Order: sequence, then C-alpha cells, then structure tokens
Amino acid sequence: MQGINVSIDGMEATHDHVRNRQGSWKRALAALHHAKAAGARISVNTQLNQRSRHELLELVPYLAEAGITAWQLQITCPHGNAVDNADLVLQPYMFLELFEALDVVADVCRERGIVLWPGNNLGYFGPNEYKLRRHQKRQSGHFTGCHAGHRTISIESNGMIKNCPSLGGPENTGGSWREHSLADLWAKAPELRYFRERTIDDLWGYCRECYYAEACMGGCTAASEPLLGRPGNNPFCHHRALEMDRQGLRERIELVRGAEDRPFAAGLFRVIREPKDPQRRATEGPVHVDEPRVSRAVQMRGPGRAIEAMGARG
Ligand code: SF4
Repeated sequence: MQGINVSIDGMEATHDHVRNRQGSWKRALAALHHAKAAGARISVNTQLNQRSRHELLELVPYLAEAGITAWQLQITCPHGNAVDNADLVLQPYMFLELFEALDVVADVCRERGIVLWPGNNLGYFGPNEYKLRRHQKRQSGHFTGCHAGHRTISIESNGMIKNCPSLGGPENTGGSWREHSLADLWAKAPELRYFRERTIDDLWGYCRECYYAEACMGGCTAASEPLLGRPGNNPFCHHRALEMDRQGLRERIELVRGAEDRPFAAGLFRVIREPKDPQRRATEGPVHVDEPRVSRAVQMRGPGRAIEAMGARG
C-alpha cells in the first residue's frame, strides 16, 4: 500500500453531522497525520453540499498541514442518507456560487501544492473547466463523459459486478463473478453494456438539447439516476446553471418520494425551472417541471416515460 485517501466532508461540525459520528472529523485528521508519518502518500475526498460548500477555504490549512498531495471534490449525491437529509443536497442554482468559490479554491490549492481533482459528478463545461481539470490531461483537461463501464468496473463485497461503486439498484448490477466469468458479465450483461451502448437518444430534458450532449452524456449517472429515477437529465451542472441564469431562470429540486431503509436506496425528486427573480417567481410560478421517470429496470433505453401521480407540487 502506497497511498491512503480519507474522507473529510467540511469542517468539524459539518463532517460529524454528515458522517453521523461525533469526533469523527478529529479522528479522520489524526488518521491523515499517522499515515503521513508512516510514509504513505495521503489524499482527501470531500463531499460538497449546502453546508460544506462554505467551508472549503477554512479546511485548506488543515489539509495542507497534514501534507496531502491531492484533494478530490464531489457533490453529495441524492441517495441513501442524503434523501433523508435532502436539505443538504446542493440546489442546481447554487452551482453559480459554488463554481465562483471553487475558482478561488483552485488558486489556493495551486499555491499550497495540492492537486485539486474534481470528481466525476462535479462540472461541467463552465468557463473554469480547464482550470479545475487541468491535472486530468488524459481527458484533455475537460470532462469527457463518465468512464464507468468503459475503462472501469467495480465489485461489491458480495461479488456483484457494477460499472461504478456509486451506482446502485438492479439497473446497475450485472451479476456475480462467483456465478459467471467476469469476461461474460462485461460482454453480455445488459446492465454493464448500457454505459457503452447508450447514445444521446437516451438523454432527455435539457441534457438532450445541450451543446455538449455527445461529449458529456448527461454527466454522472450516480448523481442523476437517483434524482429523477433514470439517468440522462442532470441539473447538477455548471453549464446548465449558467444557461438558465442567462435566460433569467434557475432550477431547483424538490423531494417527491423518500428513500427506503436499505443501502443505495434512492428517493425521487422533480426539477423545477422558474424565474430567478423572486417577485416573478412568486407571481408567475414554474416555467417547466421535469417529473421523475420510470427506471431502466422498467424501460431500459430511451428517455423513459414520466411516472404518474407523484403528488402535488408545493
Ligand atoms: S446540461 Fe447535461 S449534457 Fe449538458 S453539460 Fe450539463 S450535464 Fe452535460
């Protein structure tokens, strides 16, 4: 073992809240120092959410003092505990402020010699894309679509094979390597092949019409699928937030169904597009709503159909 990556999700109160463990922030930092003292290369993962997004600059000195080489940032995905704490999940319109903050964070990391590494679900195609992804040169310094199922594959503790460890549910589980060969699963399992075979006709909503659709394919599936029930329409996007803003609009998500109590359980949300001006918002209401759609277990390909009767909008 050469390197150790520790998750630190903001400052102490935020991290302990997100991890639901008092004292875990202190222990995580101590683990970093111990690993460094033992000669390991150390790095940190941080989730970006409504609390941690304000604490990044405050966190940097602690990470620099511990001696980390790299810092991966990714948004909190709307599944599992995040559905029960939906007010933690970033609202799409917050991406404007978030990326202004990340621009400053990138400069500070550069000064401190920390490699900033945006995760797969953080982007896409905004004006500071290259600055944020300049270390990802194998990908041309910009997001080139999710590589899960193309270059990577993952294994669950029970032997089940998926394209990415963050994906959940039967739509994403190809089968067990204990029952099938890995080569067979890779070549034949429709759940694994989906990522290699999907086209822009599997996108929907704003992403289907997006200029970057072919390169991006709707960003991170593990962020969009648990939000709207199927991938292909992703409001967690800087380019999209900027385009909305340019049109005098913004997008927000609203929980319409909570998650079951099991690992990787997803809820369902809708995406509401509305005027960014509060007065117009109050008088005119939404201009568009993307309701959740049926899962890929029901309808594997294409944009899918909307799920009926998900409850009235608040
Ligand atoms: S709007 Fe969708 S397809 Fe376009 S860049 Fe954003 S996530 Fe990608």
